[in-house]
Amino acid sequence: MNNVLSVFDCFGLLASKVAPNVFDLSSGQYHVSLRDQIVRGRLLVRDLCAVNSSFDSLLVVGAGAGGLAVAAEAARRGKHVVVLEANGTPMSRQMSASRRYVGPFMYEWPWQFSRSQKYPPTDLTTWDDFKSCPTLSAVQPSTALEFAGEMLKWFDKESQLYPELHVAINLAGPLAERVKEYLRTGFRTDQTLDLNGMSWRGNGPQQLSMKPGYIVLAAGMGAENCTLPSHDGIQVENEKPPFKGAMFWEDDALQKHAENGGDIVVVGGGDGALQDVLRALTTHAHPVQTLEQLEKCKDTSEELERVREQLQTIDSQARLVAGWSWDPSEWRVADRLCREVAVALAGKVCVRKSVIECLREVGANSGQKVTLLIKEAYFDKAYLLNRFLVHLIHQVLKHSKNGGEADNRIGFDLRTDMDVQGVQKLCGDKYKVHCLDAEHVVSSFGADYVSVRFGIDRTTIPGLQMVHLKGEDQRQRTTLSRLPLPFVV
Ligand SMILES: Cc1cc2nc3c(=O)[nH]c(=O)nc-3n(C[C@H](O)[C@H](O)[C@H](O)COP(=O)(O)OP(=O)(O)OC[C@H]3O[C@@H](n4cnc5c(N)ncnc54)[C@H](O)[C@@H]3O)c2cc1C
Repeated sequence: MNNVLSVFDCFGLLASKVAPNVFDLSSGQYHVSLRDQIVRGRLLVRDLCAVNSSFDSLLVVGAGAGGLAVAAEAARRGKHVVVLEANGTPMSRQMSASRRYVGPFMYEWPWQFSRSQKYPPTDLTTWDDFKSCPTLSAVQPSTALEFAGEMLKWFDKESQLYPELHVAINLAGPLAERVKEYLRTGFRTDQTLDLNGMSWRGNGPQQLSMKPGYIVLAAGMGAENCTLPSHDGIQVENEKPPFKGAMFWEDDALQKHAENGGDIVVVGGGDGALQDVLRALTTHAHPVQTLEQLEKCKDTSEELERVREQLQTIDSQARLVAGWSWDPSEWRVADRLCREVAVALAGKVCVRKSVIECLREVGANSGQKVTLLIKEAYFDKAYLLNRFLVHLIHQVLKHSKNGGEADNRIGFDLRTDMDVQGVQKLCGDKYKVHCLDAEHVVSSFGADYVSVRFGIDRTTIPGLQMVHLKGEDQRQRTTLSRLPLPFVV
């Protein structure tokens, strides 16, 4: 028979394709942790090579975790690869974050493998033996800066193995314009990209032009929205510059203010906001430390073990439902169920004692507090560990109020259905955050530090702008972009 049907695995291609032979790792994607981007990039290269093994060169725009993973995997498969990076170094986003902690598996709790951050995982009874993927050796979550350093170390080793793998940095000005023009028209009309004048990291390619078979846009998620309008105490001041909070991957002063007894207000209901709430409430560098502190008490540890499977099921169901629905309120159910688990646990004396020990100690009745203002009635998309710990602390503090068990600990005011109007700057580096509640009643919250975690402004995703994708096109891609990714490939 001549007509043999070939079946290709091509989800990687379908989920990332934005134009003929152009793939974007970021636009419209739903699961986008550092690890997700590494896995997504490697799947894309695997599928590209499966459908067309004969292409010989690849252009990658952006040298974050996703771009580096794509580049190394393509080079391993014998392709000539050029990566173009706008900043002075690959992994630039994480390079300026020495207080954020990351790890490829830290947010897979309550799965047991979440305790090791080694990548790829080395337990061959659970995982296959993966070749040529980024190798990370930290056992515990590490700072984003350390993570970036390990990624670079790995990538530099790969670069030595594959002489056809090149990275140009500091892409700006006329060089950036040249690349933009190539993405816009040159590639489509089968022209050659002129690589003259690029600043190469290490050795540049011998041939200073290329005709890539494919382009992978790995330029990230775009601009984070950390701003709120200025407010004068009565109304929004549109003519004044807005209040601008620190970006997520930037060293901020949140913990310093919390240590010094300051009140913290966090605005937002997603994972970034929950991470900041935990950094403000506890003295721990990351939530895995909080968990380990809770587990030091045998009784509390047993209570946590008892709810582990239930929490795991809630989380798995929520992630799977998200793949089959575009309903933005999909996290409502998971959040309610998780809160119910926290309510039950907060009824146990041992759990309350362990949780209270994790909280910042303050002078008796000092009144220092963390306020979380969220627009919805529930936490939005967030990792289970953060969601669970915030609910647990909230329920324990509620329960402890009457007995005075936590009088010498920082307080936590969780406000839902809050429409935040703006931030008023007071004298002495103090702030007031003004909101309307569900009944349109004005509420104001004093703060020494304000964190705004509104996530990414989706209109700024670089890949979309590079290929001029419209909202309409994006909507058609949503279902595949929400497919859960494997933990490692
Ligand atoms: C609020 C928030 C919280 C997050 N929390 C976590 C977390 O706790 N854990 C976690 O794992 N992930 C987290 N993430 C996600 C994480 O930031 C991303 O997964 C990761 O940065 C994506 O990697 P990337 O390589 O796709 O893109 P990026 O890391 O953004 O890298 C893109 C690269 O492309 C470059 N670039 C951009 N435009 C151009 C251009 N035009 N030309 C050339 N180069 C360009 C950039 O300089 C950059 O180096 C969070 C994200 C946000 C916004």
